[in-house]
Amino acid sequence: MTENNFQRWVCDACGYIYDEAKGDPDSGLMPGTRYADIPDDWQCPLCGLTKSDLRLLPEVATVAAKRPATVPSGKSGLCKGGDDYIVIVGGGIAGWSVAEAIRRREPMRPVLLVSACHGLVYPKPAISMALAMGKKPDDLVDMDATAKAAELGIEVRPETRIIKLDVARKRLTTVKGGIRYERLILALGAQQRVLTVAGDAADQIVRVNDLGSYRQLRDLMTPGVKRVTILGAGLIGCEFADDMSGAGYQVTVIDPAPRPLSSLVPHQISDELGVRLAAKGVDWKMGATLQELNHGEAGLHAMLSDGKVLETDLVLSAAGLVPNTQLAEKAGLATDIGIVVNNVMQTSRPDVYAIGDCASLSGQVFAYIEPIRRQAEAIAADICGEQERFMPLPPLVKVKTPSMPISVCRPSGPIADDAWVAVDDPDDGLHFEIRSDKTIAGFVLSGTLASKAGGHYQRLRA
Ligand code: FE
Repeated sequence: MTENNFQRWVCDACGYIYDEAKGDPDSGLMPGTRYADIPDDWQCPLCGLTKSDLRLLPEVATVAAKRPATVPSGKSGLCKGGDDYIVIVGGGIAGWSVAEAIRRREPMRPVLLVSACHGLVYPKPAISMALAMGKKPDDLVDMDATAKAAELGIEVRPETRIIKLDVARKRLTTVKGGIRYERLILALGAQQRVLTVAGDAADQIVRVNDLGSYRQLRDLMTPGVKRVTILGAGLIGCEFADDMSGAGYQVTVIDPAPRPLSSLVPHQISDELGVRLAAKGVDWKMGATLQELNHGEAGLHAMLSDGKVLETDLVLSAAGLVPNTQLAEKAGLATDIGIVVNNVMQTSRPDVYAIGDCASLSGQVFAYIEPIRRQAEAIAADICGEQERFMPLPPLVKVKTPSMPISVCRPSGPIADDAWVAVDDPDDGLHFEIRSDKTIAGFVLSGTLASKAGGHYQRLRA
């Protein structure tokens, strides 16, 4: 607990942390604003849910105080795990979420988190809106891995890449030595899909999926860069298009689909978003793909599948995610589009779990924060001998396009455009629903209406 007893609150839907010490100056909450003093109409800056949707984070001192002094802290350099260890591979939101969930149930159990990257704790959804908010990569970081590990009373090994997993011997081989485990949790994440593009500048395409690659992107955005081309008009592509056009860049978006967000929302909302972003200068090249990218005299020369050419300074790919399954596959674990798990997130080996972007339940990957938190609870419960199954429920997704706020909560899988039913709503914006057997199975709200998504979401879940 800090000197002034400031507390931290987490938004379970998006991972945003409201720290009373820092406040939320962008929304007018000065540093030092207590949770109790947040106005009821305040909205989470990342997902739009309200104050009542925040959950108090367990205090550092509370958790750490329960730990026996003999257990090495996060700074132990030569930790090798052991036969009683829970080992988590991955320092993203999924890895840290499961560490927290285990700690809430088991204050004493030795836990080691291994991460190929720095394992920084930050709200990943904030990346695609950081530019317009004037945030640098470091501004997004909530805590470093050592501090987070100390808070939870676990051990951590950042920048430690896993080379091999031997499930029979319950052992990981890393670049820094071997690690033994009793239970293993794979939180390996996903990578941006690599598109097949020809040309001598194809390797210049930037794929942003974490803070490290966002840092690279920011480094590439030198003052000479004015024209940005985004590959993909899905959620992330549209968010970056709004963010970058808002920051003054001349943005072009290329996608084989007929309209932006085509797999997520009905065409009326797609069309309006298209118009709003076009008004900000976004040039949509729909129904096309990037075929070739070459170095030109003034920047990069892009050739599209429809024969059009364009000059650009930077190409950013947002073409969807591919789960990281290689480590599991080589170890002989069952995989399909991801690492196959059951409803307590166990893989084909009962002592190995998978969570988040790398895990696949009934052929479906749950890449949003809210299901990841519930997956973490299911794993922690199973390890502790409790019953808590992970139930797939439609997540609430805020499309972070300030030019046209959109909130969508929909069942997985393809939805025919005409299955969306328009709802008359007195407020400003569009409202559509998906109905099944007279109950509402999903909804999408735009404009001012999007701010009411929390209420619709709670009713749908009830
Ligand atoms: Fe949120």
